[in-house]
Amino acid sequence: MTLTVQPHRETLGLKDGQLLIGGQFRAAEETWTHRHPATAEEIGTFAIASERDVDDAVRAARKAFDEGPWPTSRAGSRVKILRRYGDLLREHADELRGLQALDNGVPLSFKQVYATSVEIAADIFDHHAGWIDKVGGQTLPPYQGGDHLAMTFREPIGVVAAILPWNAPFVLFAQKLAPALAAGCTVVLKPSEYASFCVIRMVELLVEAGVPDGVVNLVTGPGDPTGEALVNHPLVDKISFTGSREVGKRIVQASAGTMKRVSLELGGKSPALVFADAPNIGLAAMTAMGSVTMGLSGQACVAQTRALVQREVHDEFVATAQMLAGAITFGDPFDPAVLACPLINARQLDRVMGYISRGQEEGARLVTGGQRLEGDFAAGNFVSPAIFADVRNDMTVAREEIFGPVLTVVPFDDEDEAVRIANDTEYGLGAGLYTNDVRRAFRLARRLRAGTVGINGYQLEPHLPFGGFKQSGLGREGGQSAYEAYTELKTVMMPLTDELM
Ligand code: NAD
Repeated sequence: MTLTVQPHRETLGLKDGQLLIGGQFRAAEETWTHRHPATAEEIGTFAIASERDVDDAVRAARKAFDEGPWPTSRAGSRVKILRRYGDLLREHADELRGLQALDNGVPLSFKQVYATSVEIAADIFDHHAGWIDKVGGQTLPPYQGGDHLAMTFREPIGVVAAILPWNAPFVLFAQKLAPALAAGCTVVLKPSEYASFCVIRMVELLVEAGVPDGVVNLVTGPGDPTGEALVNHPLVDKISFTGSREVGKRIVQASAGTMKRVSLELGGKSPALVFADAPNIGLAAMTAMGSVTMGLSGQACVAQTRALVQREVHDEFVATAQMLAGAITFGDPFDPAVLACPLINARQLDRVMGYISRGQEEGARLVTGGQRLEGDFAAGNFVSPAIFADVRNDMTVAREEIFGPVLTVVPFDDEDEAVRIANDTEYGLGAGLYTNDVRRAFRLARRLRAGTVGINGYQLEPHLPFGGFKQSGLGREGGQSAYEAYTELKTVMMPLTDELM
């Protein structure tokens, strides 16, 4: 039977998506038709915000920031609203997961993974609600001159343009909106055109939680015209972007004109360094291979797609990875037995297939996978998980973020060589270390040029900073540093006597 997701659309009561501007939901002149990545079926339509719509949204956010009351509201009232919102997310978790499955095809079975769950999004709101009455400035003693008071204040940064990718909308929505709202900012949010329905629902729940009109505005649509209009708007104070390195670079350029503050969470080519003394080679292979197969099919920024494996355990590692690749199941994302999603669109499918051909042309050995699925799956963007062995780190498949189910395995002989290969990349988002030697683990954790290092395992959590070295980004999300990134630091001074300062 040919795969279809249409019945789930009816069950979830999917309606056409609208913009939210200044507290009013409204349609736009043009609409985007979303096609499901597993079936190519038309799922629904939502508004494409034009330049004019984006201007209205930014002005609504500007007004809500400049005239209040959100930025100057009492800490207690913002805490209550964010906590109420966390509870609403938990209550609507099943509905949101269903909408996500209609958006990007991520299977419901993936809900077990905390890092991409609705539950982590709720916890991130709780976590940032906790900072609201705790982050402040300092009172500093005079350095020279007369007796005076010097203080610092943390002020909300202003109007934030928050731009999301398609692959992990729950957690990324929360990583931006929670600290921005906690700090007292107002927001214009643009989700990916490939994952808008679940985000539209998350925004409706913000209204239900009591976020005042104009504080969060929603502009749906693609990069051109919607994203471009947003990042170029002169009344935006900060851009918080998660997505590809290429778009990240455009955003840095676009921000120069009015010196907007910029936070970027970009791509990666994260290594997994597997030493012969790893507690369990099979588990290391499952972790690395799992991150390029389970749920997102390698479409995860921090997936450990570059396994660096000590030569004596190379074959054991590859054999386990191959076994896991064979166990991955595809199909209806609402079926609990389905473990992985298709590639998000035809463009990405072509890109991934191109990299697989390139790997073979450059001499990497394709151990398994790398084929499009046929039969009932032919209409979808499905690719079987691919493993390349005998890879050199200068091959294209080891250098570029493929963003698909492709694992490259590069052998190494000793620790120094492993670190050299691991750091020989333009990216620096994450790294995995698999060893039983605790001193080696900490030695290498310090030497690796990556924002997050997992020693025999890794887990994203709301209070932990997350972000990239090098071209993987600018700044950190998660924890206190994320909250502070939505503030400006202001110094206020006052003489306490008539003596000159
Ligand atoms: P993308 O860069 O194509 O799109 C991201 C967002 O930017 C979308 O909303 C898109 O509409 C918008 N956009 C596109 N062109 C734009 C423009 N010119 N101006 C303004 N906005 C524009 O990325 P994607 O395919 O949605 O996501 C995949 C990428 O995201 C990968 O590179 C992945 O590594 C990265 N990612 C990073 C993290 C992280 O935390 N570091 C997390 C998830 C995904």
